[in-house]
Amino acid sequence: MQIKLKLHNTLTGKKEIFEPLNPTHVGMYVCGPTVYGEAHLGHARSAIVFDVIFRYLQFLDYKVRYVRNITDVGHLEQDADEGEDKIAKKARLQQLEPMEVAQHYTDAYHRDMELLNVKKPGIEPRATGHILEQIELIEKIINNGFAYEVNGSVYFDVEKYNEHKPYGLLSGRKIEDLQSGTRELAGQSEKRSALDFALWKKAAPEHIMRWRSPWSVGFPGWHLECSAMSAKYLGEQFDIHGGGMDLMFPHHECEIAQCEAGNNASPARYWLHNNMITINGQKMGKSLGNFITLQELFSGNHQLLEQAYSPMTVRFFILQAHYRSTLDFGNEALQAAQKGYKKLINALRILKEFNYEEQSENIDEKNTQQINQICDNCFHAINDDFNTARLVAQLFNLVKKINSIHVHQIALHSIENATFNRMKELFTRFTEDVLGLKEEESFDGKALINALLEFYKEAKAEKDYETVDAVRAKLKQQGIVVKDMKTGIDWAYEE
Ligand code: ZN
Repeated sequence: MQIKLKLHNTLTGKKEIFEPLNPTHVGMYVCGPTVYGEAHLGHARSAIVFDVIFRYLQFLDYKVRYVRNITDVGHLEQDADEGEDKIAKKARLQQLEPMEVAQHYTDAYHRDMELLNVKKPGIEPRATGHILEQIELIEKIINNGFAYEVNGSVYFDVEKYNEHKPYGLLSGRKIEDLQSGTRELAGQSEKRSALDFALWKKAAPEHIMRWRSPWSVGFPGWHLECSAMSAKYLGEQFDIHGGGMDLMFPHHECEIAQCEAGNNASPARYWLHNNMITINGQKMGKSLGNFITLQELFSGNHQLLEQAYSPMTVRFFILQAHYRSTLDFGNEALQAAQKGYKKLINALRILKEFNYEEQSENIDEKNTQQINQICDNCFHAINDDFNTARLVAQLFNLVKKINSIHVHQIALHSIENATFNRMKELFTRFTEDVLGLKEEESFDGKALINALLEFYKEAKAEKDYETVDAVRAKLKQQGIVVKDMKTGIDWAYEE
């Protein structure tokens, strides 16, 4: 069975067969978070979507160099080269150093990603650690004639660039439409055109994040870091660039323009964008009161939440949709995801405990053939633009078979041995290695000890010393000693 991986390339608007520049190595860059606040569902979706892509490429035996950045400078309040830096603003309000804010929320992001079982990228560069590379790229762009300096700030000349290469290819925008859609520049603007964007901004006196450059003491424009860092770690051309759909324009469009203008190369061959999460049909936003952080989701501590949802439930919920579809958050959908996740994990547990000894003489041809077909279908699903929704549906088809074997509706040894092994390997690897789902222990160990002690107490009252000794011995294996005290029965950790 040879099925090729196809992916939807935003750049061409088509599904294409994946062919990396190097047949064995893949370079992938994904825009990471701006670290000025707690991570929310939107962050989780993007991180999980690209985590699965990273995992599946590894499953296919590619060596993947995965770079996901941390934006710790240059993301301004108004996204249009104006306003205060988001991190500096938080620092000012909380009387902290900007780097304390960035470190705090970077740590918080890492904590949440670990809970969601998102693998660490191979390289996680920070924008503030790459100021020199960004200055070098600006110099190249100026030397090639695609940027201009005004009062210590440097702007990218979009119209000039558009004479050389069309601007707007990724998002399907045309410069004429963009020009008529933008407001006239106010008289005091430094930019030649409203479409131009900052590569370097001279810092106002109150702006605390600042570095020396040939043009002024200032800071880089937000779009620049990804161009500079992707080129540094993956080369001027690499395979996959990913991010949320909200980054497609202007952020990714500007990245392409900067790389073409500076390096004369389109950075990535395949651009992948995950769709957004809506909350009860609405866009998520702080002003709408429907902004839910991951910590709130995990604790259930938010007015919109009927209960807490575990990290694996959230992960499963996100994987139940294809990454290019919108995904609507709601309690009902999350509760359904919780059930689905547990069903899958229960089947995984059962499957691991099956003890296949010897193939019987009468092979169940029908079930053997069906299981093989479902295994093939798993590959068809994931190879079709990483369709995790369809992959999950196929895994549930295997869950039915596993449960039937478990209750002896299908005899284990009537399944052809090779097919059973294939099912076991693929079900386990797709669930754990590709989808990144793992068993989450949702029970309380101390409550379990107390339940056992109740049982111990009853056995003792009935003078059933065999049971009493058995409970004692079982708990001892776990490092727990039962204490018969005058005041009652208690337990302690074995010293
Ligand atoms: Zn970026």
